[in-house]
Amino acid sequence: MTDFAATRSQFHLPDGTVYLDGNSLGPMPRAARARLDQTIAAEWGDMLITGWNKAGWMDQPARLGDRIGRLIGAEPGHTVLGDTLSVKVYQALAAALALRPERKVILSDSGNFPSDLYMAQGLIRAMGGTHELRIVAPEEVEAAITYEVAVTMLTEVDYRTGRRHDMPHLTAKAHSVGALALWDLAHSAGAFPVDVSGGKADFAVGCTYKFLNGGPGAPAFIYVAPEHAEVVEPALAGWLGHDAPFAFEPAYRPAPGIARMRVGTPPVLQMAALETALDVWDQVDMPALDEARIALSEQFIAEVAQHAPMLELASPRDPAARGAQVSFRFTEGYAAIQALIARRVIGDFRAPDIMRFGITPLYLSSEDISRAASEIGTVISERLWDTPEYRRKAAVT
Ligand SMILES: *Cc1c(COP(=O)(O)O)cnc(C)c1O
Repeated sequence: MTDFAATRSQFHLPDGTVYLDGNSLGPMPRAARARLDQTIAAEWGDMLITGWNKAGWMDQPARLGDRIGRLIGAEPGHTVLGDTLSVKVYQALAAALALRPERKVILSDSGNFPSDLYMAQGLIRAMGGTHELRIVAPEEVEAAITYEVAVTMLTEVDYRTGRRHDMPHLTAKAHSVGALALWDLAHSAGAFPVDVSGGKADFAVGCTYKFLNGGPGAPAFIYVAPEHAEVVEPALAGWLGHDAPFAFEPAYRPAPGIARMRVGTPPVLQMAALETALDVWDQVDMPALDEARIALSEQFIAEVAQHAPMLELASPRDPAARGAQVSFRFTEGYAAIQALIARRVIGDFRAPDIMRFGITPLYLSSEDISRAASEIGTVISERLWDTPEYRRKAAVT
């Protein structure tokens, strides 16, 4: 059981705002301000350098990693925080390729987030161009998992449509041909229950500023399955992933287990903010979250269909086949989102024509969903989007 009224009361949301963009940047936990104040004044301010030991800054990446581990079904001691998601994709991919040296194909799909593809392209260049990044349509992934594939690099939930891959099924297929599976959980962690251990993922990565509500710039996480944790050789071998960072040895020796995936100094202020979000997550039962997510999403789809029947649903109709977002296709989607934001219903836009709405029970109620659907109906039916002001694109959409 989870009291979603109680979790909602622990987030700051501006008055009158319905926030449907937690898939991009989660809202601020109310406790973050006081916690950051304390970290800045009592820890950084008064403890100075001793904060690394006294305030536990150095252990925070592993401690918070384990709290995220619970949400993604990881074995304790196999998840660690640090860097940004793009960096963690690079690290995990390099580690996977090193475990399959005789194979040269990285398999991904056209629904993957571009940064993941760019990281793979850069890694291939750094390795001398001997590998191939093979990109197929999402529905063709399963058939494309052949004996040539070293690793499948997939994002479980498509950032545009919310379409969700069957992680255990595709992972089993990858293993059946001797390939490894790397999963990007950017739109999964905190969106619905994930089970990396039961699903046998070899590597998983994700960010903490989306559904996990860690704040802008909060660090990413990486999970390495127990069978690989003592074997992988990090391509980004930093001093904090060394077995003895403060021995300052000239040669790299990996730390035991997941700690080797750490690179450099962790972002202490960001981790303090993230910790307040994880305090809320500790009150959440993941199956209850899923049930509530499905109820709110189904309500949203039904009410948008009623108020704005001309919008085409871009997300799968089956709630089990989508993540915690609902998207619609509309040619003037960008302007429509601006008109909605002006009416304090916040979603976002992804080119070329996707209006995207994140649905999470952590701070959204059934009343919020009704209000959002009704405002969407007004904006579309009264063509409120049709002004030059709303068509002007900002740098961040
Ligand atoms: C959000 C997102 C990213 C962003 O990466 P950062 O390095 O944190 O900016 C990368 N990959 C996927 C799949 C994402 O959804």
